[in-house]
Amino acid sequence: MTKEEIKQELRRRLRDNYALELEDAGPVELFYSLGELVKAVSNEKWQKTWKNYLTEEQKQVYYFSIEFLPGKLLKSNLLNLGILEEVRQTLADTGIDIEELAAVEKDMALGNGGLGRLASCFMDSIASCGLPGNGNGIRYDYGLFKQRFMDGYQVELPDEWLKRGNVWEIRREGKACDVHLFGNVYMKRLANGKLQPVGENQTTVRAVPYDTGMIGYQNGIVNTMRLWSVEIPASEEAKYQNLTQRRTIEDLTAVLYPDDSQERGRLVRLAQEYFFVSAGIQSIIRYYKKLNLPWHSFSEKIAIHINDTHPAMCVPELMRVLMDENGLNWEFAWDITVKALSYTNHTIMAEALEKWPIHLMKQVVPRIYQIIEEIDRRYVLSMQGIHPEDLIQRTRLLQNDQVYMAHLAIIGSHSTNGVAKIHSDLLKAVVLHDFYTIYPERFNNKTNGITERRWMQLANEPLSKVMDKWIGTSWRKNPKNLKLLLNFQDNEEVLKQLRQAKLVKKAELADYIWETTGIEVATDAIFDVQIKRLHAYKRQLMNLLHILRLYFQIKDHPEIDLTPRVFIFGAKAAPSYSYAKSIIKVINETAHMINTDSTLQGKIKVIFLPNYNVSLAEKIIPAADVSEQISLASKEASGTSNMKLMLNGAITVATLDGANVEIKDAVGNENIYIFGLTEKEVYNYYENQDYSSQKIYEEDKELQRILDAFIDGTIPNVEFEGREIYDSLLKFNDEYFLLRDFRDYVQAQERIDLDYKNWALWQKKSLANIANAGAFSADETVKAYAEDIWQIEPIFAHTEKEGTTNGSHSI
Ligand SMILES: *Cc1c(COP(=O)(O)O)cnc(C)c1O
Repeated sequence: MTKEEIKQELRRRLRDNYALELEDAGPVELFYSLGELVKAVSNEKWQKTWKNYLTEEQKQVYYFSIEFLPGKLLKSNLLNLGILEEVRQTLADTGIDIEELAAVEKDMALGNGGLGRLASCFMDSIASCGLPGNGNGIRYDYGLFKQRFMDGYQVELPDEWLKRGNVWEIRREGKACDVHLFGNVYMKRLANGKLQPVGENQTTVRAVPYDTGMIGYQNGIVNTMRLWSVEIPASEEAKYQNLTQRRTIEDLTAVLYPDDSQERGRLVRLAQEYFFVSAGIQSIIRYYKKLNLPWHSFSEKIAIHINDTHPAMCVPELMRVLMDENGLNWEFAWDITVKALSYTNHTIMAEALEKWPIHLMKQVVPRIYQIIEEIDRRYVLSMQGIHPEDLIQRTRLLQNDQVYMAHLAIIGSHSTNGVAKIHSDLLKAVVLHDFYTIYPERFNNKTNGITERRWMQLANEPLSKVMDKWIGTSWRKNPKNLKLLLNFQDNEEVLKQLRQAKLVKKAELADYIWETTGIEVATDAIFDVQIKRLHAYKRQLMNLLHILRLYFQIKDHPEIDLTPRVFIFGAKAAPSYSYAKSIIKVINETAHMINTDSTLQGKIKVIFLPNYNVSLAEKIIPAADVSEQISLASKEASGTSNMKLMLNGAITVATLDGANVEIKDAVGNENIYIFGLTEKEVYNYYENQDYSSQKIYEEDKELQRILDAFIDGTIPNVEFEGREIYDSLLKFNDEYFLLRDFRDYVQAQERIDLDYKNWALWQKKSLANIANAGAFSADETVKAYAEDIWQIEPIFAHTEKEGTTNGSHSI
């Protein structure tokens, strides 16, 4: 598209939709008109893509995830269509700043954090690699809550992201289907002697899909993310005459559960899980039937991925549809199911391993429960005589009146993967060791990844331009080529330009901080960043202990030679997680105490930016000098903000946890600050039960003063929260070993303080991080999934093999 064409199209849409001239339009009208234009361009490619998959009978993957966290899509779509610069210029010619209208778009925040963001990075990478893949999830009316601070406390406001409509989605009424919940199921004997389940008193709801095009990076491919919304079916309207009755149905896709750690035994959540699983499976089956192939070919055409256990009911639901609706026998249906399904485990935290009470399952999804019972019965039977009885009992689905969803996902699929090497090893050795002895061939690792298109090309244009200048533009298509930057490690001019690019983004963030908090920060200070969900295991509190140490140091020795630092936090706490909320309150009060104390001469500042989400991450990450990845070893499955920060030249201070281990291997020891207990040492403490935080406290005078600050009035206004935190660390023996790791952490921070003073040394480390970040491209991750787990091929490979072209090879 030329600039002139873009301008004409935009003018036409503004006139037709708003009766406005381009010059008179505001950012809202401009955003929606441009969005429509983008959709028109991509829809043509979208239509070609799905038609192509259908006629080529390409094997496709369906990625089931209860969360997606795409953020804003305007600039990402423009970039991937290859018209970002043209559009930016066109708008600029008319005196319009593209950033102003991009800001109109609401973040699509249909996820809590890392899990949902991973799903969205995968969607971008799957399309960009030309792989036939679809997302399947829920279209929540309200995304993750909007976070405000009042008196330092977190306040949660509803996220009305759909208020002005969603320009990217297409409602596909014709693809809607019914989902049955509740009621009873009994077996009826048919004339041919077969048993047929019959539902009674069921609640039938309508699942309506809203599709969003997932545009590949300048390759002509547009895949589909399908999100389901609930409605009352026309046939049932009479049943729901008053608003309260209607609401019970509509609640099903109203809110995302803002809690990614604890499973609250909520009936609606269970119904949500079944709702999007059932609708997704039904639409897959409908597609497969269009192909007119025998059932035994199913897994040659379809791969279904279970992202964490929330969609684990894919196992019994696929069984149900194959048996009850298509007449397959158990053995055949089971064979198809196991071959088609695969599962990713995302956590080792016991409280986050999903289990559902049997009575609830019976109530909400009675037929699914029957099938689960039968899977369990047959599993136990098939393992008897092969494995010891206690092993079988520990691995079965039904235990203690609960359904173990991870067990269901592992037994009912052909692949179980962890999300970083250390995490996958821990699954095999500890958490899922029993399953590993039974199904060793099912276990594998797929280290998480990120899309460098959003996290570098879009978020960090100054850095991207430095890259283009010195290593060419091939890294944009192939992020592994960032490695070329290593040729310039000792080139002072390159180092200077990298530093300058960082400074530009630090100045932008400093402006944002000033606008949102009224606090001034200096751009020559170290920007030290910890952004992630607030959770005890992630240890934001240990970061705060270090800040308090610096505070006391400066108070005692005002002349001390410290490199100025700005500590930046971004984190939401689950509304029901009161300990995490207490940590937010204490960080905010400490921040206020420090930021208003002029005797500190601005040597340290503490900034807690509210409402951490994808868009805020895009502002913070390019400006970061230091990346805090300080979870207790063994607790963070992978982490992905560690990768985003590394890509943007931040240097990591890290425990040997999750993907930090692989980041260390990629950049080398001299380009990362590693500290703290290893996973083995943590497990030794568990085994020997010989950890005593009290003992450390008693022997460390400085730590005493820091911890006492929580209860002696030093930190103001935290009478309750300060005591809660103090007790968690001493009375309740410091579950996440903060005191044990504190000294080592402080030493790492002191090395950072020193190294930063030598800008060339620091910039060289930063360069090594950027250059080696290509190893964590989600493109590489999804290619590994495609080859090892899903057995799907890129459309290019396929069409070239067949000798056909479809005109979509415009790379
Ligand atoms: C990347 C990302 C996360 C994940 O952060 P971790 O530090 O890996 O837990 C969470 N939320 C948002 C908005 C993100 O962009």
